[in-house]
Amino acid sequence: MSAVSIPQTSPGATALVIVGAGLAGWTTAREFRKLDANAPIVLVTADSGDFYAKPTLSNACAQKRSADQLVTTPAAKMAETLNVTLLAHTQVQSIDAKAQTLTLSAADGATQTLPYSHLVLATGAHPIHVPLQGDAATLAQSINHLGDLARFQQLLGDTPKTVLIMGAGLIGCEFANDLLQGGHTVHVVDPAERPLAALLPAGAGDQMRAALQALGVVWHFGTTVQALNHSATGLAATLGNGDVVAADLVLSAIGLRADIVLAQAAGIACERGVVVNALLQTGVEQVFALGDCAQYASAGARTLPYVMPIMNAARALAATLAGTPTALVFPLMPVSIKTPALPTVVAAPHPALPGSWIADALDTEAAQAGGIWRFMDADGQQRGFVLTGKQSTRRMELAKTTVL
Ligand SMILES: Cc1cc2nc3c(=O)[nH]c(=O)nc-3n(C[C@H](O)[C@H](O)[C@H](O)COP(=O)(O)OP(=O)(O)OC[C@H]3O[C@@H](n4cnc5c(N)ncnc54)[C@H](O)[C@@H]3O)c2cc1C
Repeated sequence: MSAVSIPQTSPGATALVIVGAGLAGWTTAREFRKLDANAPIVLVTADSGDFYAKPTLSNACAQKRSADQLVTTPAAKMAETLNVTLLAHTQVQSIDAKAQTLTLSAADGATQTLPYSHLVLATGAHPIHVPLQGDAATLAQSINHLGDLARFQQLLGDTPKTVLIMGAGLIGCEFANDLLQGGHTVHVVDPAERPLAALLPAGAGDQMRAALQALGVVWHFGTTVQALNHSATGLAATLGNGDVVAADLVLSAIGLRADIVLAQAAGIACERGVVVNALLQTGVEQVFALGDCAQYASAGARTLPYVMPIMNAARALAATLAGTPTALVFPLMPVSIKTPALPTVVAAPHPALPGSWIADALDTEAAQAGGIWRFMDADGQQRGFVLTGKQSTRRMELAKTTVL
């Protein structure tokens, strides 16, 4: 494992190059700048580079905010503040790891070769698409970027619509709650028996099911969307159980897959994400990765597609790039699920950890205000927790008794 330090070269010469202007890319630039005011940084991104908090995508409707209004800092301002050379609307086509160069293509088709001293991959993740049958199969939308939200909002228009959401995971439930608050009718289809089946114990999932149903969600559990066709009134989704659901729009929220396309083509080891060690180094010299595209050794070879892992990873990576090799150690990072119908906090254990969820016995009054579940391992140690409703304010208390 070689030590790294960025050469103090003039702008235009070999630089630290970051690919991606999401939270991972910009936070790495910001953290690095705190440690090194002068080393050149070039940030290359396929999008505009405008800075926004991606979690706000799934509560914009209730707040009546357009995609443009979610931008907190325009790209040019970010670049100026952080003294970064920004190449926006520019796609990295390939990495030549041996020559330490990137091939770029701009929106006008012009190509360019960009050398790097150190390369940070922060390319995020792609929504997973399942193949559907039917003459409207390609009309299923997904929302993972500002541009996706802008398109979806345009399709929603100003009048109440019926939206069918594929997937009752974290993003599906958040959009269901948000769209209902925005005055729309929402159907959710999922093969599991209850929402958030992969993340929550059954009792907490049942509470979420009841809370969103009380708000108006029409659930379709134990089945999937098979076909999407045009109908006289809009779209008709045929489910595996034979039901047909009429909708104006279909939103696919069945999960994300790390974007490993560039890394894989360059011969960089990838599994569920770009494989990185505790220093966030990939298997190739001077190439690093973090964010939704990375599979972290520090997380037991998992991807962690959430905000807090990125903040922690960016700090450690910046220190390493500034010359102090710093192993990434994740703290406990509970995730808040943005469903105002049932505020929920999850500190999930590693999925491979044997153990079981145990519900706290709360008195009736407290139980009506939500619940507490603790994940206990074989040695009787608490390794995770879930809090719902009013109990969700107790995250600090539960965090203190959780063993990492
Ligand atoms: C709707 C929604 C709600 C969420 N809510 C929460 C929440 O409440 N709490 C939480 O912790 N997490 C939440 N998350 C997850 C969190 O937002 C993400 O983990 C995080 O924003 C990912 O940041 P990133 O920088 O890794 O990826 P991205 O934001 O996807 O950025 C990837 C960047 O790479 C660029 N790029 C990719 N390939 C190339 C290429 N070849 N050339 C040039 N540029 C390229 C893209 O243009 C983009 O700028 C949510 C996610 C979604 C979708």
